[in-house]
Amino acid sequence: MKFSNCRLLFATLLFLIVFVALLLNTLAADIHWGYSGDGGPENWGELSPDYALCADGAAQSPIDIRDASALDLVAIDFRYGESANNIFNNGHTIQVNIDEGSAIVYNGITYELLQFHFHSPSEHTIDGMPAPLEIHFVHQDPNSGNLAVVGVLLVEGENYSDAYAVVFDHLPAQVGEPEAAGEPIALAALLPEARTFYTYQGSLTTPPCSEIVRWLLLDQPVALSAQQIAAFTAIYDGNARPVQPLGERDLLLDTK
Ligand SMILES: [Zn+2]
Repeated sequence: MKFSNCRLLFATLLFLIVFVALLLNTLAADIHWGYSGDGGPENWGELSPDYALCADGAAQSPIDIRDASALDLVAIDFRYGESANNIFNNGHTIQVNIDEGSAIVYNGITYELLQFHFHSPSEHTIDGMPAPLEIHFVHQDPNSGNLAVVGVLLVEGENYSDAYAVVFDHLPAQVGEPEAAGEPIALAALLPEARTFYTYQGSLTTPPCSEIVRWLLLDQPVALSAQQIAAFTAIYDGNARPVQPLGERDLLLDTK
């Protein structure tokens, strides 16, 4: 082979290697996180360096709730007002963005309510048992950026829930932007009457799985009608991360 041919072959090979590497990189970046297949929870940690905690973290969420240590903890002070129903389908769940002015105070820290959203089935399980739905009220401490997420399990009951109808009558099947729909939401009406709770330190349950969340899972569920639950699962059924090991963390149950 002539020297010039050899050089051409080498250049072509180099080009092909770079091309294939770029293509593979693009394909990997194109795998979007989700709840099944290549983008499913068992692969989240490999989808992006930013998602490493999903695979390597030691304080991940959700968890199975069992053998909690019962203590008389400081109560969650709910300072919930009203918000427009800024509802949208974000491609992973149905979310409602909350107008400014609602918050919780927990252990002396004020966490502002940013949004709530749903998972079906529930992400937290009680002694291995999931509920049909779980709502997450996501709050943030504006000073530290840390989150406090209040979780409530939603179970099937006899009655249509008027409090939840404000939201569940407007569930958008198509992915889109937030739009104020229907009546304003009385936020406190979405909570159970008893506000005792389980608590542990954990993470976001979606990529990037950041370990910045004080979890406050209320132990009393709220009941919706079978029809209301079906309205949600017609859009999202299976948007729940599997439970993660508790490891060395404390799981406490407030007894007040
Ligand atoms: Zn969530």
